[in-house]
Amino acid sequence: MKTRREFIETAVKAALVATAAPPLMAGTACSTTAAAKAVSVPSLTFSQITLPYGYVALEPAIDALTMEIHYSRHHAAYVKNVNDAITAEGIAYTSEIEFFANTSRLSAKARNNGGGAWNHNFFWQVMKPGGGGPPAGKVAEALNATFGSFEKFKEQFAAAAMGRFGSGWAWLVQDNGKLKIGSTPNQDNPLMDISELKGTPLLALDVWEHAYYLKYQNKRNEYIANWWSVVNWDEAAKRLS
Ligand code: MN
Repeated sequence: MKTRREFIETAVKAALVATAAPPLMAGTACSTTAAAKAVSVPSLTFSQITLPYGYVALEPAIDALTMEIHYSRHHAAYVKNVNDAITAEGIAYTSEIEFFANTSRLSAKARNNGGGAWNHNFFWQVMKPGGGGPPAGKVAEALNATFGSFEKFKEQFAAAAMGRFGSGWAWLVQDNGKLKIGSTPNQDNPLMDISELKGTPLLALDVWEHAYYLKYQNKRNEYIANWWSVVNWDEAAKRLS
């Protein structure tokens, strides 16, 4: 049988355990929740595609040094920075489509770097060495039907690329079955809910100065004119429905 003293000692020990317990339990509960969250909501991670050709492959339209800096520094930085933003801000979107459809809710860092990550992956794919020339098949038919001729399409696309003041992109998109030409500022793209130009991108041209300044300096018009020789029409065709 316990003495009164033993009873008090036991009660005090129990109280100490009870006092100590809540923080421990809270800590455990917290990390369990975080672990469960990490498992049930895999966060989106952007990555750089492997460049489908070497840095020299698009010469003379795009010089090797520009390609190397553009891919290994500019593009790599956008990818790193958007992933940092996703982690730091706890952005829970699980697909690129969902991420861009909710751009209006994102921070400037997430929006700009997310756009930069996606746009460049797209840009590398819609170019290839020995590309260019007029497209064939359904792309040719669609361009002719919408713009009158391939030459007229090129004129309108080049005008969009020239007319973008400062940094941005020119695009050919398909929106509800219709082809449209337009441009976006900064690293915005037509998948973003905040974009005036919307649709499925078929073709894109980066008109940031970092894309052409080493070779062309202020002559954006010459960069655009030469860029037609590396367009990969097969990629545009894949995306045209
Ligand atoms: Mn760029």
